[in-house]
Amino acid sequence: MATACSIRVRGIVQGVGFRPWVYRLAQANALTGWVLNGDQGVEIHLEGDEDSLAAFMREMRSSPPAAAAISAIEVEPARCEGLSVFTIRESERLSRPTVRISPDLPICEECLAELFDRSDPRCGYPYINCTNCGPRYSVILSLPYDRPATTMREWPMDDFCSREYHDPANRRFHAQPVACPACGPAFSLLEGATTIPNSTEAIGRSAQLLRGGKIVAVKGIGGYHLACDARKTEAITALRERKFRKEKPFALMARDIETARTLIDLSPDAESLLTSVARPIVLAPGMQDLPGVAPDTSELGVMLPYTPLHHLLFAAGAPDALVMTSANRSSEPIAYEDEDALARLSGIADAFLVGERPIARRVDDSVARAGVFGPMILRRSRGYAPSAVAHLPASRPLLALGADLKNTITLVVDGQAFVSQHIGDLDHYQSFRAFVETIDDLLSMYDVRRDDLIIAHDAHPQYASTLHALSLPCANRIAVQHHRAHIASVLAENAIWDEPVIGISFDGTGYGGDGTIWGGEMFAGSLRSGFDRIAHLRPAALAGGDAAAQYPVQAAAGFLSQLDDLPDLAAAPFQFGPRYRSALQMIERDVRTFTTTSMGRLFDTAAALLGFTREITFEGQAAIWLEQLARSAPATEPYPFPFTSCELDFRPLLSALIEDRLHRRPIAEIARAFQLGIAAGLASAVMTLCEECRVRAVVLSGGVFQNELLLADLNTLFGAAKPRVWTNHAVPPNDGGISLGQAALAAFGACDA
Ligand code: ZN
Ligand code: FE
Repeated sequence: MATACSIRVRGIVQGVGFRPWVYRLAQANALTGWVLNGDQGVEIHLEGDEDSLAAFMREMRSSPPAAAAISAIEVEPARCEGLSVFTIRESERLSRPTVRISPDLPICEECLAELFDRSDPRCGYPYINCTNCGPRYSVILSLPYDRPATTMREWPMDDFCSREYHDPANRRFHAQPVACPACGPAFSLLEGATTIPNSTEAIGRSAQLLRGGKIVAVKGIGGYHLACDARKTEAITALRERKFRKEKPFALMARDIETARTLIDLSPDAESLLTSVARPIVLAPGMQDLPGVAPDTSELGVMLPYTPLHHLLFAAGAPDALVMTSANRSSEPIAYEDEDALARLSGIADAFLVGERPIARRVDDSVARAGVFGPMILRRSRGYAPSAVAHLPASRPLLALGADLKNTITLVVDGQAFVSQHIGDLDHYQSFRAFVETIDDLLSMYDVRRDDLIIAHDAHPQYASTLHALSLPCANRIAVQHHRAHIASVLAENAIWDEPVIGISFDGTGYGGDGTIWGGEMFAGSLRSGFDRIAHLRPAALAGGDAAAQYPVQAAAGFLSQLDDLPDLAAAPFQFGPRYRSALQMIERDVRTFTTTSMGRLFDTAAALLGFTREITFEGQAAIWLEQLARSAPATEPYPFPFTSCELDFRPLLSALIEDRLHRRPIAEIARAFQLGIAAGLASAVMTLCEECRVRAVVLSGGVFQNELLLADLNTLFGAAKPRVWTNHAVPPNDGGISLGQAALAAFGACDA
């Protein structure tokens, strides 16, 4: 006797080969019915005998398709209609889509094998893909995910592709971006006045140019890359000059995992990140000296090829280690539209490898590291965005606009928090435009009406994101304090709603609840109840406010002015110059001087005292320089950094540092003693606060915790008496995680600024 049931599957289940997989599973179990992509996930109706239904359910729970991520399966009994076959039905669109959009996927093993199989019709075709692999978020124009709603709508399938697309037994059954050389888009190479219109020839010539030390702009999944040979110093120097990128490290693409192992020291955790479906850039200790690639740091960022095009380029003889950096001028967002790329990059690239398939939205490469407390994402974009990272108790749609640096936005729909791809620093006009576009994009994708929104934003009254929040027509706006948002981001992604914690938020800057510049903050509380600021770094002065972040010597003036006696640096082995002296004068006269508790500026101060006296060219540069220096020295006695009456007192720390510096102790040893001092001071503060507040868990977030050495030292110092340590894994600990924290605090209505 036949029974029937209806099943709804939620999660990342569209665009990952789920319906064909269900079809084949139903066939295998002799079940009839149908499957379709609905607004809330995949809907399945099954008819057959009890045992077959049970077998179907077991298989679905135990081994779903590789790229799927099921968040819930709901099963209900249904009326048996006596269906005789199993079919895939057209997509339904009834209400607001709450289905999750899949991130872009790397080419799968089967497509890779076809790519290099001379007998295959798609041999050498740079747009080969199937239901298990290929672009998703970067080609989707609207939901539900179907070919007319992707950037492939301009290319009608030929008979060959159409047969595969409609054949339930085929790997390309309903693979929306499916194409072949006969019907699909192609790549061409623009080199000066010449155009090579044939994909294979264009790729071959590109590989030749790269071997010859040229810079080639390569269209990828979510934007253009600028590529050159990582071992040709002249090419790298030229790239830095043309791109106006002085010192910020370049990412590398290694031909394969073996090449990656010769470039970086790959721990098993780092290797699993590198080969994960997100295919991020992985930071790890460098094994080769590649001059100009990553000045001032011993780490290199490496990724593996993830598109068919990348594999074809290497197979055509491109150097096995390529610099692959976002195609933009310094700080601008990545170029992703062809005309814009050709215009903006004309003075940078020697040639353009241009693919015809349009990119629906800009998605940079993600950056990650296998950290002391688990994987850490430093930039969350391709491969991760726009997956939901948390569930939050929000009955109405909620939009959180993030901070002005490393901006991301978060949209909460039906309790799912979707975090956008990395957008960038909003003080750049292009990035601000991208910010506005991303808001529009996510709202329209999820069909959210603007007047229905709750908007969360940073408490900083002058942030561009705040001003934008105020300009949006909505009745409900909530300001969230920056460092509380950092702590909340960790608790939200780890789904810790009620447990009380000690929250440590160390970063460069953030508007404090009292109008001063915070950045060395300690809180007690929970996501549900909100956080009380219970301790902080001893306040220092900051001449010029946030602008001082550019100049470590300016930060130094503000911290050194707090010592009992201003140190006499005349005998010091370095010169601070006029900027230091004028900052001291500003502080003395109290002109444009602010109070700060910023840990980031304390690191800048130490870096300045150790010789980093120039202007920084990217955020966090001086602190990274200091960490690298410290790594080169053996463990040593920490400088004193006492925690008394709710303050971490930096004065003994800096006095000891200056003393050693004047006595010409090697700067690497000083850096090590400083780093250990910070860790020891923080560890004792955490122990004290945990005891006082009767709390067993500590949350670490904020840009300072990108410092791996600090985390390693803390881990050692916590030792056996270890509190439970929670850190970010799904969103960055830097300001890329702020929008999630804002969303979480707004959802719980706990946002005392
Ligand atoms: Zn594939
Ligand atoms: Fe921050």
